[in-house]
Amino acid sequence: MRKISILGSTGSIGTQTLEVVENLENIKVMAITGNSNIDLLEKQARKFHPELVAVMNEKNAEILKGRLADQKIRIVSGMDGLVEAATYEGVDTVVTSVVGNIGLKPTFEAIRAGKNIALANKETLVSAGQLVMDLAKKHHIHIYPVDSEHSAIFQSLQGNTGNRIQRILLTASGGPFRGKKREELEHVTAADALAHPNWSMGKKITIDSATLMNKGLEVMEAKWLFDVDVDQIEVLIHPQSIVHSAVEYEDGAIIAQLGEPDMRVPIQYALTYPKRVKNPFPRVDFAQRSNLTFDKPDMDTFKCLSLAYRALKTGGTLPAVLNGANEVAVARFLKGEISFLQIPALIEQTMDAYTVKYEYTLEDLLEADAWAKAYAKKVSF
Ligand code: NDP
Ligand code: MG
Repeated sequence: MRKISILGSTGSIGTQTLEVVENLENIKVMAITGNSNIDLLEKQARKFHPELVAVMNEKNAEILKGRLADQKIRIVSGMDGLVEAATYEGVDTVVTSVVGNIGLKPTFEAIRAGKNIALANKETLVSAGQLVMDLAKKHHIHIYPVDSEHSAIFQSLQGNTGNRIQRILLTASGGPFRGKKREELEHVTAADALAHPNWSMGKKITIDSATLMNKGLEVMEAKWLFDVDVDQIEVLIHPQSIVHSAVEYEDGAIIAQLGEPDMRVPIQYALTYPKRVKNPFPRVDFAQRSNLTFDKPDMDTFKCLSLAYRALKTGGTLPAVLNGANEVAVARFLKGEISFLQIPALIEQTMDAYTVKYEYTLEDLLEADAWAKAYAKKVSF
């Protein structure tokens, strides 16, 4: 019996993880967590009977305690609660599907407690890739990627132990503004940016997909997960999102994973690996999908991608600063405080103002994140 804990069960990945669980046998949800959406958390608790529910927001935790008084479920709150869910006794795999750097501490604690990680929360690897991978090695735990591209790469690596990766082909849909030039992006609104053509996701990652920051974060995620150099990772715009990514080996053979754009497939593989389990999710009909295209990304228009490369090549604490600044930039764009093109401008200003540390601990990364967020909140145009 696999026993899991889902951090961020009320989000896009969290709810899809529960859909996957419903279709699987021999899996038990031990702990779930949320922040603002306690109506959904209550429904999930009544349906999946976890032993523990953690609510980040203290007030919401109190309300939920009252509502679930008839259940034998412990309700905890705050970061301590999130960590308790991440380290809960008997859990073997923790699905990290909270959004943003908030996932850092619980992911670290889960690894220290010997849990395997089904990783969706890419911000954790972006900020602290080296520390996370070192800690995972030390505690002999596995990190199973949930992100569709990284799951595709992981799947393309199966059966190739000992074979060197020549190149990783990391595909990107290009988002809602693919093909547009800077002038055309000056006045786009949050609603325009939230209309993703292929994927239905949380707001933050949807904006990241529109700016191509998401692909930048994924380049970093790939570097840490698969231990490759940045120059070995090639981003390819593939608007149909059928080829989820690929690995090229030294003999020139390219192995890819394909499928309809449906996060439930990579989520399921992260939970059932190495087994493949039958499910009712949609299948690709190639006769209907005859036009699969590939192109280079436009790094001048979508500057976030080049900023991510800069952060990755510089290293140290700079990726954490890029990530923190991006979280604030996205939140400010969604509130209508800054324009779409000011997202990369704000991140760049924050990066330029920062002095990078090359020797660092988790505390230093949390500090870099806090510094970047405070700075990015104050930048005005
Ligand atoms: P959502 O915004 O849909 O969900 C976020 C989850 O985190 C919710 O459960 C939310 O709780 C919780 N949360 C938000 N803020 C806090 C906080 N301060 N403290 C504790 N919990 C919090 O995000 P997604 O599911 O889209 O994304 C989750 C992660 O997965 C991200 O890192 C994203 O990049 C990654 N990812 C997502 C994909 C997707 O298809 N959605 C694809 C690949 C990766 P509540 O709703 O109750 O407030
Ligand atoms: Mg992805």
